[in-house]
Amino acid sequence: MIPVEKALALVDQYTEKTKNILTVSLSEALGATLANDVISPIHMPPFRQSAMDGYALGSIEENKFNLVGEVQAGDNSDPVLQKDEAIRIFTGAPVPSTAKSVIMQEKTKVVAKQLFLDEPAKKDANIRPLAEQIKQGDLALPKGTFINAASIGYLATLGVTHVEVYKKPSIAIIATGNELIKPGQELKHGQIYESNSIMLSTALQTFGFKNTTRYKVEDDYDATLTLLKKVLQQHDVILISGGISVGDYDFVGKVLRELQVKEIFYKVKQKPGKPLYFAKKEHTTIFALPGNPASSLSCFYIYVLPALQKISGVADYHLKRNSSISNSTYSKKGVRAEFLKATLKDGKATILDGQASSMLRSFAIANVLLYIPEEISEINPGDTVQIIPINQMMH
Ligand code: AMP
Ligand code: MG
Repeated sequence: MIPVEKALALVDQYTEKTKNILTVSLSEALGATLANDVISPIHMPPFRQSAMDGYALGSIEENKFNLVGEVQAGDNSDPVLQKDEAIRIFTGAPVPSTAKSVIMQEKTKVVAKQLFLDEPAKKDANIRPLAEQIKQGDLALPKGTFINAASIGYLATLGVTHVEVYKKPSIAIIATGNELIKPGQELKHGQIYESNSIMLSTALQTFGFKNTTRYKVEDDYDATLTLLKKVLQQHDVILISGGISVGDYDFVGKVLRELQVKEIFYKVKQKPGKPLYFAKKEHTTIFALPGNPASSLSCFYIYVLPALQKISGVADYHLKRNSSISNSTYSKKGVRAEFLKATLKDGKATILDGQASSMLRSFAIANVLLYIPEEISEINPGDTVQIIPINQMMH
């Protein structure tokens, strides 16, 4: 059994960023990571832009102007303004190069084609300068940026249509267990609904990993061997749920040994998720997660997600840990580190009831895991604690 920090370090050590890079259109880029710097092809804004509906003024010394026309958003004109002239202008419209300021319409009066200012105009006020946001040729977004809706929107404003991204791994999710049946069928005595594979594939999807295939296998040595042999050839990452403990019908470990995968570790000093197993077979990464649903999901957030993010090129892939203040009292029963389902609200973390590894109810409402390292045996209200954000959509 190895400590949590050692297990995290080993997962990091044995995963590497993919070398596969793809060019995708912006609309397909959500959840991917930039494999190259994106350089801005244009100045943004590409011209001096009015930030207000109002009037562009020929000088800032006057307070009375003759109105000589207008410029609408999208117009391609550059009227020449004399010092005592102004034009009507609208948000987003190009500001005439001779204009010294834009005044918002709320601060003016118009009487018989003459504009009167309620207050003096200020130089360049309400004008977005050329290239205020970014200059042509400057770095728009660096390699390693995780692409979200805002980054897609931003790149679209620059006229970027395609980006180079790291290819996402192909991931197999294997549920093991004779007792598992698909939701929708009637339960017979002794059966439960299989929930881990849909839970893991959904968690993956939340973080932009869509190339997943779900498999189911009975607790049978030969069937497990056949399936694992096949998936090892077809996927970059294998997530196995269940069958990794010490029961007589837990065949996953035996089969992986038979297939000569390189075991990196088995068993971590943590609760939940003690029987976590991590291995490599050439470039394929294998996690065998404990079957208990809450253990499976805990291990996913703590070990699998950072590994997948590293593989797919996310620069800031390490497990996110923040500190917070505990609202709860908790005494550990053993010496293992614990990851407790908790809610974080107003900067304080409250430990939820129902921490058993077989239960998902608390997980469903938790927004953090509260991490109690091995060396800490109890926490009290007011203590500073480490928390790991979970159940969030893509960052
Ligand atoms: P195992 O790790 O195979 O010993 O399973 C531990 C516990 O988790 C048992 O109670 C299993 O029935 C349950 N379990 C295993 N796999 C799943 C799954 N895919 N969905 C729901 N429960 C599971
Ligand atoms: Mg089992």
